[in-house]
Amino acid sequence: MKILMASSEGHPYAKTGGLADMVSALSLSLAKLGHDVRIVLPRYYNIGRSGLHLLEGAMGVPLGGAEEWCAVYNGELPGSPAKNPVQVYFIDHEQYFGRDGIYGNPWEPDFLDNPRRFTFFSRSVFQLCRKIAWFPDILHSHDWPTAMVNVYLKFWERPLGEQGEFAKTASVLTVHNLGYQGIYGKDNFNYTGLGWDVFYNGGFEDWNMMNILKAGLYSADKLTTVSPHYAEETKTQAQGFRLDGVLRYRSADYSGILNGIDTAVWNPARDRHIPQTYTASTLAKGKARAKEALQKELGLPVDADTPLIGMITRLTDQKGVGELFGPAHGSAWAICQDMKVQLALLGSGESWCEHEVKSLAARLPNFKCHIGYGEVLAHLIEAGSDFFLMPSRYEPCGLNQMYSLAYGALPIVRNTGGLTDTVENFDQENGAGTGFMFDDLNPQAVYNTVGWAIWTWYNSRSQIEAMRLRGMKKNFSWEGSAQKYVELYKSCLRT
Ligand code: ADP
Repeated sequence: MKILMASSEGHPYAKTGGLADMVSALSLSLAKLGHDVRIVLPRYYNIGRSGLHLLEGAMGVPLGGAEEWCAVYNGELPGSPAKNPVQVYFIDHEQYFGRDGIYGNPWEPDFLDNPRRFTFFSRSVFQLCRKIAWFPDILHSHDWPTAMVNVYLKFWERPLGEQGEFAKTASVLTVHNLGYQGIYGKDNFNYTGLGWDVFYNGGFEDWNMMNILKAGLYSADKLTTVSPHYAEETKTQAQGFRLDGVLRYRSADYSGILNGIDTAVWNPARDRHIPQTYTASTLAKGKARAKEALQKELGLPVDADTPLIGMITRLTDQKGVGELFGPAHGSAWAICQDMKVQLALLGSGESWCEHEVKSLAARLPNFKCHIGYGEVLAHLIEAGSDFFLMPSRYEPCGLNQMYSLAYGALPIVRNTGGLTDTVENFDQENGAGTGFMFDDLNPQAVYNTVGWAIWTWYNSRSQIEAMRLRGMKKNFSWEGSAQKYVELYKSCLRT
């Protein structure tokens, strides 16, 4: 199949979250299966032109009633199979993408011209195909920035009928996080060049605003999200971010496919960032060395017998940080005071939370943090922790709990989204399970569940060891998920 991924992020070029990893990892897995996969990304300012190839001639993109011009660069995705490399195309437009930041910067978190930037980008996808005379069987877009691709296919290209170059192209839209929808004032609708009849409740219109994701959800042939459980949750009012009705309406075409993890990078048997690599049979020794290194690195007392809980997270409401670190009722203080435990956190995000975490770390000897982004420290936390805490309010897929299972750190998680699909709750009757789970998100539930895990550590260590080995055996590689996408693509082919 010819598959075109239209995305605003792709590892290693531009990344703010799991979307970037998924687009590249899925593309590589599909290429390994023999498919002709290409990716189109904006050429953001930070993506250097060296090593890229400039396609001859400028490319015109209709926008509103006019036409805008851009350049196109092309390169190969690192890690591609030699015989079937994934081609990446970069849309180069100085005004829209020649600035720091993908969606915004600290002073302007959501660039004012984002609707225009991503309308332009979505239109450019079709012009690119014309320019390289290559028309995909599947056009796969991701989240609101490229959701409009589906609208253009449906309302602009397909009406051209059999004469149109995209008559045989089917579209798939993947939701990575329903919390971000691209909602803007309706004056931005003029840039789309579409007729106002598309601006209705079954399209863009959302309380008289323009909702780009909503229009995409109505227009794509198939919809997916990044875990089966999140697919179900997003169809409920509680977790549907006001689009649950649309997703219920589209439920026959909507499914969840679990993201995989990069097992070349997140694998304790091959990890270059930890003091000693380990497998299930050398777990005790490898983890003990990593734990000691982690305690030294963060300034925690070096102590093999105290259970260490790790966290790597964006410090935002979605991740349950209010219940943990909220200055009035957060449970982290009580956990660290009442239990013989250590807590190690790596993260960055909302400034109130960064401040609170730093202030707790200053007052508690058994809680240390590193505020910022740290690839190497992230590996050391996974390897050196006995438990891994993720009290997410919602979690479309979540990667860290899968890394934790692979590294023998038992997840303590809320029973939600992808966490439900990847962690099995501990059953102390028969010792089954791979982690500790709770349903309601409140400080007491977090406290109690951490307490349950710590109690089990001190009183039933053999069950902890058995769970760790069970978790390490889980296979979360991309191969299985890529195969599911292939089946989905086949189900909507128009040839
Ligand atoms: P989300 O995409 O919602 O942030 P995921 O668990 O799906 O959550 O993926 C987050 C990814 O980003 C993981 O690979 C995690 O290790 C990484 N990450 C998050 N914060 C940091 C940080 N401060 N330093 C290093 N890695 C981080």
